[in-house]
Amino acid sequence: MFLVAQSELIWYTEWMESTDEITFQAKINRFLTGMDAAGQATDHLAQAELYVPASVTTDGWIAAQNAWITEVSDIDLMDCKLHVEQGSGICLKLRFIREGSECPGCGRLSDQLHQNRPIQIRDLSIFGKRTLLDLPRRQYYCSACQNHFSERLAVMDWRRRYTQRYEFYIYQRVQHSNIEQVGREEGLSCDQVQWIFQRQYSQKKTKTGVKLSVKEYATILSVEQRVV
Ligand SMILES: [Zn+2]
Repeated sequence: MFLVAQSELIWYTEWMESTDEITFQAKINRFLTGMDAAGQATDHLAQAELYVPASVTTDGWIAAQNAWITEVSDIDLMDCKLHVEQGSGICLKLRFIREGSECPGCGRLSDQLHQNRPIQIRDLSIFGKRTLLDLPRRQYYCSACQNHFSERLAVMDWRRRYTQRYEFYIYQRVQHSNIEQVGREEGLSCDQVQWIFQRQYSQKKTKTGVKLSVKEYATILSVEQRVV
C-alpha cells in the first residue's frame, strides 16, 4: 500500500474496502497507532513517544497523498514514477510532490528552481535485490539572500551516496559479522563499509543520551585496530 522511510524501510499493506481519502486516512492512522505501540513495546520509542515517519513514497494517487498530509503534516511525500530492473538489482525513480524548498539562510520558501541534477543512492534491498533510488537533486535560488542553495533530503545526509537507513543497516551488520564479509555480500569495498561504520559510530557518539552496547564497543575496537 505504501512505503514509509525513516531509519527503517517499511512496506505496509492492508485490504481497503473502498478507495476514498477518508478510508485511506483511517488506514494510515491505524498503521501509525500500531507503530507507536510496537515501538514502545520494543524500546525503540520512549513510553509516551509517537512514531512520526519522515517521508513516504506513494503512487500518484492524490487521495493517498492528501490523507498522508492530514495525518503527518510535515511529511516528505515522494511519488514513485517507475521501477526499473538494473542488472540484478532494482532502481526506483522517485519524484518529490512538493515544489520549492526552505532557504537555509533566511528560512523563506523558494520555488525558483535553478537546476536539477538527479542522483542515484543505495538503499536497503527490496525482496533481496540490491536497490538504488533515483532522486531529484534540486537547487533553488533565494531572491532575498541572492543565493543558490541545494535542497536538503530527509532520506540522506549531505553529500552521501547511501540512505541513512542503509548506513544504519551496514553498521548493525558489521557488529554481527565483519567488514570483509559485509562488503562481499553487499557489493561494497572494505573501505566503503569501514567508512559507513565509522560515520554511524561518530553520529551515535555525538547524540546525547545514547548508550553503546558491549557488542558495539567490541566492534568499534576491532574496526579501529583495523585502521591502525
Ligand atoms: Zn534566503
